[in-house]
Amino acid sequence: MIPAKTMAKCPWCGCTTWDLGDQRYNTDDSSVGHYKCTGCLTHAVFFAQGHANLFVISELAAELIWIELAVVPAWALEAERLEAARAELSAIHRLETNKAMGLPPDARGMAIPDDVRSEWTDRLASFRSSAAWQHPKGFERSPLPPQMPAGMKAFIRQPTGWEQVNPEDTANLPIPTHPIRTRHEALFGETFAAVKSALEIEFVPTELPSGYGPDPLNLVPWYSFFIGPVEFTVGPRKRVISISAKSPLPMNLIEIHELSERDEPTYERDGDDLAVLIHAWGREKLLEYLLAIGRAARVLRQPGRGPRSDMAFEVRGLVNWPTHLHDDGQGGMVVLAVVDAFVSPATPRKPWRHNPWSRAELIEPNHHGISLERMEPVLACVPLGTSDGCWWRGEPDPKKDCDESPYSPWQCTLEDLTHEGRQLVRTLQELYRRPVRLVTHIDT
Ligand SMILES: [Zn+2]
Repeated sequence: MIPAKTMAKCPWCGCTTWDLGDQRYNTDDSSVGHYKCTGCLTHAVFFAQGHANLFVISELAAELIWIELAVVPAWALEAERLEAARAELSAIHRLETNKAMGLPPDARGMAIPDDVRSEWTDRLASFRSSAAWQHPKGFERSPLPPQMPAGMKAFIRQPTGWEQVNPEDTANLPIPTHPIRTRHEALFGETFAAVKSALEIEFVPTELPSGYGPDPLNLVPWYSFFIGPVEFTVGPRKRVISISAKSPLPMNLIEIHELSERDEPTYERDGDDLAVLIHAWGREKLLEYLLAIGRAARVLRQPGRGPRSDMAFEVRGLVNWPTHLHDDGQGGMVVLAVVDAFVSPATPRKPWRHNPWSRAELIEPNHHGISLERMEPVLACVPLGTSDGCWWRGEPDPKKDCDESPYSPWQCTLEDLTHEGRQLVRTLQELYRRPVRLVTHIDT
């Protein structure tokens, strides 16, 4: 049980203790935990970031979505501003201390003579515990969370104690982009623009969940895009950026191979030149490697599609349907652009109460062609096109028995969308700051 001096008092029963439920995530500078009032079992969410704490009486998953989309980026930016203000104060303090102690103005750390170092560090420690450093000018109070939904009950911890937040006071506060995400988008946005302009090509990157590690707030997504028939997957690892490319046709990898011998990064190339992976140290190498593999991809041409089938009735919408979709009279399919509410499957959330408005029932075939039914919370679900047919005769699968049906369910990829379809996917991505997933839903 957590005493009420850490949390706000239960607004319904006045209870002063809370039981800890599951922890949703915990990063270096922020955490979200679930709590239940020991008196009336009301559910609450405790959110901490930097020096700010928020306590939300929660009934719906909507509170968590609001915290992730609005409070986290606003307070992360605030925490960076606070750090900057403190760094400035520290620099002034160091100058004054060094002057008072007769030391060179920029002396610090091991440059301080042994006999006065303990006095020097004591002065620094007492400065850091002072109110001037803890709460610099402009940071006396915790910032209000932006655009709190009406009807939500939330409390914020101020130096004087917990205070209830009035939603009206937060209505006009802007929701900024998370600073980590801002830097991430700048790096990849500028790099992709440079690749497009140097190679004179167009492509629309779609976001993927980070392929490196848990990224519950989706701050450093990976990207997937096509140049010709070659699928690129690009995204940051801890200190390097991973670039991989997969092609249906052999690629000429001489240029990237030579760069790999020059720089000696992690590098893998399959024997048939259908796949390559390389790690880039920094943005210059990222661009250089993308251009080298991009040139190899650009010369390959997508094998042409055959004549269209007239067996099925299709609403083209934003989908370029493939040839020969077979209508067996049992049902059709719809292609959906889906924005998941929660990005990282590594941190599954168990809601304490179901939230019907944010759910869609999705059925999608897995890689064996078997339909899977899933219920997942979604933020958006946009139909892109429909067809009466859903089966197509793909490439023969050598692993399948000869007497098995040659037809398998068709699955739409970004490559199969019209130009407008890809633009819509990008717009959804920008709007929700989440990856957009294409789901080919077989409706039987
Ligand atoms: Zn209570």
